[in-house]
Amino acid sequence: MSNDIEFEPVIGLEVHAQLSTKTKLFCGCSTAFGAPPNTNVCEVCTGMPGVLPVLNAQAVELAVRAGLGLHCTVHERSQWSRKNYFYPDLPKGYQISQYDKPICTGGKLDIEVDGQTMTVGITRIHMEEDAGKNVHDDLVAGARSYVDFNRSSVPLIEIVSEPDIRSSAQAAAYMKAMRQLLRYLGVCDGNMEEGSLRCDANVSVRPKGTEKFGTRAEIKNINSFRFVQQAIDYEIERQSELIRAGGKVVQETRLWDSQAKSTRSMRSKEEAHDYRYFPEPDLPDLVLRDGFVAEVGKRLPELPSDKLTRYTSKLGLSPYDAKILTEDAEVAAFFDAALATHKNTKSIANWVINEVLRELKGNSVESLKFKGDAIGELVKLIDDSTISGKIAKDVLVELMAHGGSPRAIVDSKGWVQVTDTGAIEPIVDQVLAANAESVEKYKAGKTNVIGFLVGLVMKESKGKANPAMVNELLKKKMGG
Ligand code: ADP
Ligand code: MG
Ligand code: ZN
Repeated sequence: MSNDIEFEPVIGLEVHAQLSTKTKLFCGCSTAFGAPPNTNVCEVCTGMPGVLPVLNAQAVELAVRAGLGLHCTVHERSQWSRKNYFYPDLPKGYQISQYDKPICTGGKLDIEVDGQTMTVGITRIHMEEDAGKNVHDDLVAGARSYVDFNRSSVPLIEIVSEPDIRSSAQAAAYMKAMRQLLRYLGVCDGNMEEGSLRCDANVSVRPKGTEKFGTRAEIKNINSFRFVQQAIDYEIERQSELIRAGGKVVQETRLWDSQAKSTRSMRSKEEAHDYRYFPEPDLPDLVLRDGFVAEVGKRLPELPSDKLTRYTSKLGLSPYDAKILTEDAEVAAFFDAALATHKNTKSIANWVINEVLRELKGNSVESLKFKGDAIGELVKLIDDSTISGKIAKDVLVELMAHGGSPRAIVDSKGWVQVTDTGAIEPIVDQVLAANAESVEKYKAGKTNVIGFLVGLVMKESKGKANPAMVNELLKKKMGG
């Protein structure tokens, strides 16, 4: 093959998402993250002999929700299968999963890359239980390895994409869109550091312009958007170089080493597990009762794309603002709550985007000491001239620090705007007397000095004077 041949990548992602249930998939143990090792465990999730799994209904509802959100066919009947392999973190020696009869098939997810929308097909979604976690001491003499079964049997869905992705940027955009959707749906908290959302990337390359897929490598367990992109880029380069040098890509499982910024082989196809799948004898087929899927469909929240459309076409927000406000489900809910309190769309959008989100510096709106309705109330106070925009910023500082209601803050601090002419007039007189030069300029036609004078009066009144009123008084006193 010639040396300058150009390659095109073909990528398919398998996303593992932890379902947001309180308890595990087949027992009543808690799924809470960060508990001391082996405290969220029982006979069932540690695979003791003689126990039987009992299916968590909430997990099924969340899987159905994901299927509907991804426009899949949700199957009334699906089947549990045993996936057999031997590893210390898998106490039963098998994982209960779904195989050839998964709960959902055939969906899609729209993603946006460089301002272009494209659709990635979803092959299937299946439900399964997670494995435990091996914990290794530092590699010193006498080091030990431990197993923590807290994760064991936590409910997951695996979402398998069609090989529709053609670049690492598209893959990262897909992961982001998937995380956003699952968070909107309340299916998964999307916390990638805690392992709630992770993916395996299947990557192959083919000469540009050809149809036939190349041999793929699967990069396991990637847990950040940045790593997805880096790992895929590395893999595209590696495979292209290999073929240009006359070599052949072998089908294998690889690992992304984020320190070395490279992938390395974990096991080849020959060493691949033979999982010996067979139907799980301890569980009946998963049969959804009549009308269940329709009921879940009715309870589905507004999805990101619908919200985006509503914000631009119904609320009249700019596409840019609408995008920022819908990026995260929590931010959108915060904005909706503000708007429910006071219907000034433009102003509330500005306050949320330019003040609240900026102050958050990347933290979540859930970490705030106040809810969206407080911003609605704040803007209402500005709109009915109770406070000036400047004072409103001081109110926000108070809200950030202590929470509470804007109205109560304004009252207790005595920040109510002065709209009483009698109180403003003496300050105006004082400012005019001290700035004769500016008054002369104004009279000579340089009317824009009024801004400077308004500023002085506002400062003197500690921001409490009504600016419109100050403006009017100044004009009147300087003769029009
Ligand atoms: P496995 O069970 O071995 O992981 P799957 O059929 O579940 O195999 O496919 C895994 C993923 O690999 C899917 O997302 C699919 O789109 C993707 N895929 C399949 N063939 C290729 C290929 N030649 N190049 C890149 N991705 C591929
Ligand atoms: Mg796979
Ligand atoms: Zn348990």
